Formats: sequence, C-alpha cells, structure tokens
Amino acid sequence: MATHTTRMLIIGSGPGGLSAAIYGARAGMNPIVVQGLQPGGQLTITTDVENYPGFREVIQGPWLMQEMQAQAEHVGTRMMWDTIVSVDLAGPVFRAVGDGGDIYEGETLVIATGAQAQWLGVPGEQELSGKGVSACATCDGFFYRGKKVVVIGGGNTAVEEALYLTNHSDDVTLIHRRDSLRAEKILQDRLFAHPKVSVLWNKRVERFLENTANGELRGLALIDTQTGAESEIATDGAFVAIGHAPATALFKGKLDMDAAGYLLVEPGTPRTKIPGVFACGDVMDHVYRQAVTAAGTGCMAALDAERYLAAKEFAGKAASEAALG
Ligand SMILES: Cc1cc2nc3c(=O)[nH]c(=O)nc-3n(C[C@H](O)[C@H](O)[C@H](O)COP(=O)(O)OP(=O)(O)OC[C@H]3O[C@@H](n4cnc5c(N)ncnc54)[C@H](O)[C@@H]3O)c2cc1C
Repeated sequence: MATHTTRMLIIGSGPGGLSAAIYGARAGMNPIVVQGLQPGGQLTITTDVENYPGFREVIQGPWLMQEMQAQAEHVGTRMMWDTIVSVDLAGPVFRAVGDGGDIYEGETLVIATGAQAQWLGVPGEQELSGKGVSACATCDGFFYRGKKVVVIGGGNTAVEEALYLTNHSDDVTLIHRRDSLRAEKILQDRLFAHPKVSVLWNKRVERFLENTANGELRGLALIDTQTGAESEIATDGAFVAIGHAPATALFKGKLDMDAAGYLLVEPGTPRTKIPGVFACGDVMDHVYRQAVTAAGTGCMAALDAERYLAAKEFAGKAASEAALG
C-alpha cells in the first residue's frame, strides 16, 4: 500500500478525465488519473466515431481513447490502474482510497466518473452492440440514414431519441412496455404528431435477433405485456433509451446531486459546492453526454483547478507576509 500525492487528482479516464489531465499536466499540476474499471471510458465499448472534431474519416472509439491517454502521459500525467472505493472531501487535501488500499491525495480533485447507459439485459443486446444496437441516437443515428429504426423506452430520453432519429429515418418506431409514456406532455405531443413515428404499446423486448448472414441486427422478438403474445419486428437499428446511471455512489452525502444522481455544479462551470473539487463530463451532464462535451468540461475543470491553486497560494503568501509585518 502506498500514498500518491499530486496537485490534481482525477478520478476517471474517459474523455473528461483525460482532457483535464492534458490541461492539468501542461499547467504543471502533475496530475494523477485513477482509471477505474473501464480505462478510457465509454468510448472503448463503441466502434465507429464520426463526430469527434479533427478527424475527417470515421475513427474507432478505443483508438481515440488510446491516443488521448498517450497524449496525457506524454505531457506528464501518471496513470493508475486502480478503482476508488471511498473519498474524503473534508480538505484542505482531498483523499481517495483505491480498492487495494493505496491512498491518493490531491490538492484539487476532478471527478470524471461518467454515467453508464442502462441496458435491457436481454439476449443478443451486448452481442449486437455496435452492430445495430446502440444507446445513443446522437452518436449513431447518422449511420441509419434511410433505414428503419426502433427506440425502446417511455421516458423523456426515449422520446427525444425517437424525435432526433426522424432527422435520418422515415420509419421510427417507439416500443414501450406500458400503455402510456412517462415523458413530458410537450414531448409526447411532438412525438404523436410526427408523421415518421409510430408507437408499439405494451411490448417488452425479449431478445435482439441477429442476421446470421452478416452478424448484424435484423429485428427484435417481442412479448405483449398484456396478452403474452409473441411477435417480431424487423429493424436495422435499435436504440435502447431507458436511462443512464451516473457513477456517483462515492459522493453521496458529500456533494449535491439531482434526483437522478448527477453531480450538481455551479451553472456554466465545473465547480462543485466544495472549493477545489470539480466535476466534468457525463457525471455532471445529463443533457449532452458526448465525448466532445466531456472533453470541453474536462478542460474547464483543469483551468479552474489551476486558478483555484494559484489564488490559494497567493492568499497564503499574503497572509504570511502580513504576519511578518
Ligand atoms: C456505445 C456508446 C457509443 C458512443 N458513441 C459516441 C460517439 O460516437 N460520439 C460521442 O461524442 N460520444 C459517444 N458516446 C458518449 C461518450 O462515450 C460519453 O459522452 C463520454 O465517454 C463521457 O466521458 P466521461 O469522461 O464523462 O466519462 P466516461 O467515458 O463514462 O468515463 C468514466 C470513467 O470513470 C471511471 N470510473 C468510474 N468510477 C470510478 C471509480 N470509482 N474509480 C476510478 N475510476 C472510475 C471509469 O473507469 C471511466 O474511465 C457513446 C457512448 C456509448 C456508451
């Protein structure tokens, strides 16, 4: 067991954490990134990424994250293979404990633990992920231009995803296991009025069906939740939109969160209610949830961390000079 100290401790190694690391290292804060169980974050479980600026051609999510990590290390970031199991935010130094007992101490703390998409957990879902099954219309909708798609869910996210997909597809079906939606009325009104969208009520997805000829999704097996009747729907793409779970259990009772568990920050900034503790990326953003927005807020967290330390040091120096007379 060892103690690792740094001016900027970052929990999470997705685009948010690694962007904070790149900026933090270049500002001389010798950051430590604790990577967690998913080094590189959510983009490592996808294939084609076509909307990260700077790349004309489609790039691969895992490759992008390897490059981001290499860049962070190149400018001086220390990467740690560990998962944080507890944090002490009392300060002035913030302390985190890894699952092997190592202790990480940071003069500032950047939380970039992300939010995991929730999946249905039915057969075929993970096997066909990236081959027709997705959890992000903004990310993958473009790949389904002119094709038939379905969205599974009944809340705001599902309705927003279905409406977004009408930009690419003329045939969007929302599948919901109940006979009414939980989404806000205004969204429901827009959905029901949309000529490209139809709704399949009272249907539960039993499994995702593979086209054995090409290994891609061909449809969904459904069960009627009222009659138990089995049916199939053919589709090129299926978007699971049943919510996200922000990784914030560590911070319960220590930082403010919204009802869904996302960390609350001062609007327009990555600042939490504790000076010196910042949050970036999906863990504080239930609206945009993109790699580029995570990277942007990671940059903001590092810049704010550097300013926080500079102001603290200036205040400390001024106080000791005043004490000396
Ligand atoms: C299938 C899929 C495809 C996507 N495609 C695109 C796309 O094409 N374009 C796009 O812009 N966005 C896409 N996204 C969204 C994008 O991946 C996320 O918005 C982005 O990764 C969020 O970055 P983040 O840094 O906030 O968190 P994440 O990427 O979620 O990373 C969180 C990090 O925190 C770590 N962590 C969590 N808990 C702990 C802990 N206790 N201790 C230590 N570390 C911890 C994890 O190991 C991980 O490294 C996609 C998402 C998915 C799921």
